[in-house]
Amino acid sequence: KRISLPPMKNYLRLLRYVKSYKGYAFLNIFFNMLSVIFSLFSLTMVIPFLNVLFGQQQVYEKVAWTFSVKAALTNFNYFLSQYIIEHGKIPALTYICVLIVILFFLKNLFRYLAMYFISPIRNGVVRDLRNKMYNKILFLPLTYFSEERKGDLMSRMTSDVQEIEWSIMQSLEVIFREPLTVGLYLATMVIMSPQLSLFVFILLPIAGLLIGQIGKSLRRTSSKSQAKMGVLLSAIEETLSGLRIVKAFTAEPFFQKKFYKLNDEYRKLMIRLYRKRDLTSPLSEFLGAVVMVIVIYFGGKLVLDEAESLEPSVFIYFIVIFSQLIPPAKSFSEAYSNVQRGLASVERINKILDAEITIADKEHAIQLTDFNHSIEYRDVSFAYHKGGSGWVLKNIDLKIEKGKTIALVGQSGSGKTTLVDLLPRFYDLEHGEILVDGENINAYKLNDLRGNMGIVNQESILFNDTIFNNIAFGLDNISIADVENAAKIANAHDFIMQMQDGYQTNVGDRGGRLSGGQRQRISIARAILKNPPILILDEATSALDTESERLVQDAITNLMKNRTTLVVAHRLSTIKHADEIIVMQQGEIIERGTHLQLLDKGGVYKKLYELQAFV
Ligand code: ADP
Ligand code: MG
Repeated sequence: KRISLPPMKNYLRLLRYVKSYKGYAFLNIFFNMLSVIFSLFSLTMVIPFLNVLFGQQQVYEKVAWTFSVKAALTNFNYFLSQYIIEHGKIPALTYICVLIVILFFLKNLFRYLAMYFISPIRNGVVRDLRNKMYNKILFLPLTYFSEERKGDLMSRMTSDVQEIEWSIMQSLEVIFREPLTVGLYLATMVIMSPQLSLFVFILLPIAGLLIGQIGKSLRRTSSKSQAKMGVLLSAIEETLSGLRIVKAFTAEPFFQKKFYKLNDEYRKLMIRLYRKRDLTSPLSEFLGAVVMVIVIYFGGKLVLDEAESLEPSVFIYFIVIFSQLIPPAKSFSEAYSNVQRGLASVERINKILDAEITIADKEHAIQLTDFNHSIEYRDVSFAYHKGGSGWVLKNIDLKIEKGKTIALVGQSGSGKTTLVDLLPRFYDLEHGEILVDGENINAYKLNDLRGNMGIVNQESILFNDTIFNNIAFGLDNISIADVENAAKIANAHDFIMQMQDGYQTNVGDRGGRLSGGQRQRISIARAILKNPPILILDEATSALDTESERLVQDAITNLMKNRTTLVVAHRLSTIKHADEIIVMQQGEIIERGTHLQLLDKGGVYKKLYELQAFV
């Protein structure tokens, strides 16, 4: 069982992705700082404004310029007083108003610039995350996917990443901007009135704690709803790929009911989520108002009390600053609850990112440039579940000399596919070893090993692309002549030329616009073009009708020339000429020899052969 990280650690881990965007982060912080400073200045204008209105406090003396609010204020008031004396009050008011407009303009200009530079960070991180996950999917071993639902993986890659974009990346803005804002505002407040600030320092954390509780519960609900979305996507995926059967068995109502139920469960979870999320904002606003009232009450008392020297205009300025503190505090608490929601997704994504790529190159992996001598299975036993008892293969010993053909026959489920899948390391062995040219396959570079093999399965896998690209699949710089040549050997050229756009015809999803035999011949052409020394054919003809089987069989015979071949055959007539025939039963080799030897022996093979001969 996986140990889950404390959520905040997950958050910091996500923030590490921001590192590659340091330049942007720096620009963002820089402009945020300018924006906060200008917003403080523009608010500071309240003081002279009020003073002008109430005709208070004319300043006739300049003070020395020091880096303090006090000096700045006093000097500004001095200049303003001079201005009033020379021009009168109304022009002074105009002067202040124009100044305020300019300051606000600058503040918002810088704010925009800050946002301008955060957008590449936000989207960059999301892109990196998505790329990383896609890479994982490409390189994770096949076993990983037999344990996970496809829809759930898709949901992690789409809706969870989306969730992170909306919640956590949104919080980046807050993280970069608000601490600065809050810090500067608080500092200003302390300078204005240390006594009043004390209240703020005590009351705000209490409000913060209350809001934090909602965040926690939000995370739990969000985790549940994302998981449910995974189940929902799985259901959609399954329906889409099984639509033909659903219709044939008129199972629409059944699927409908199942889907409605899932969808409704999702709806209920989302309602709970929204209600919790929507609670944070009103609650934090209300708590903010309560704190504000308390501050106004005590501040008002200080102003009214003659002994204390809190000037009304400074007090009002304090309140203005404090009220400006509420939006950042609010966005803090909102960001916090968003982050909590997003962390559920981070956890789900980390589960993919942390999955171990068990099948990879060892250190100092050796090259396999040419296949020269032999393939050998030595005492190979295999179970799909690690450490499990369900052995699918038991003590297999097998040797294939270069240039020979080995055929595997046996009932369905006897382990033939598993046996051939071990050679390209689709699964790793726990017991026994497989050698290529006398060296354990685990020692080779994975790309070299697989590069020496061509595989044609019963299910020919085509991609939604042109015929040309499906044949030239995975290879660079392939000429049209090469592809046509491969298609000719695979008996595919003629039917391809009859299609609307020839080699540029799109084959549709999974090659859905082609017949089974056509698909198969295209995957054979693909193997021919790759020209691998080792060939694996797993029931390559068993899904076909007799006519196309003949065509495909011819293509396969062409393909097998001069290669080392492991062939799993359904029809025994096709493997008569194999150098050795292996008969498997329940993961074990029960008979082996040439066609004639096995017929002579009069065992399982002979029975199977006679059964098929009459069909
Ligand atoms: P064959 O190709 O001879 O029909 P397979 O090699 O496909 O047989 O399957 C052998 C056994 O392994 C079967 O019992 C099957 O249930 C099991 N099996 C095959 N693939 C998997 C898998 N991905 N996970 C777990 N068990 C599997
Ligand atoms: Mg099979």
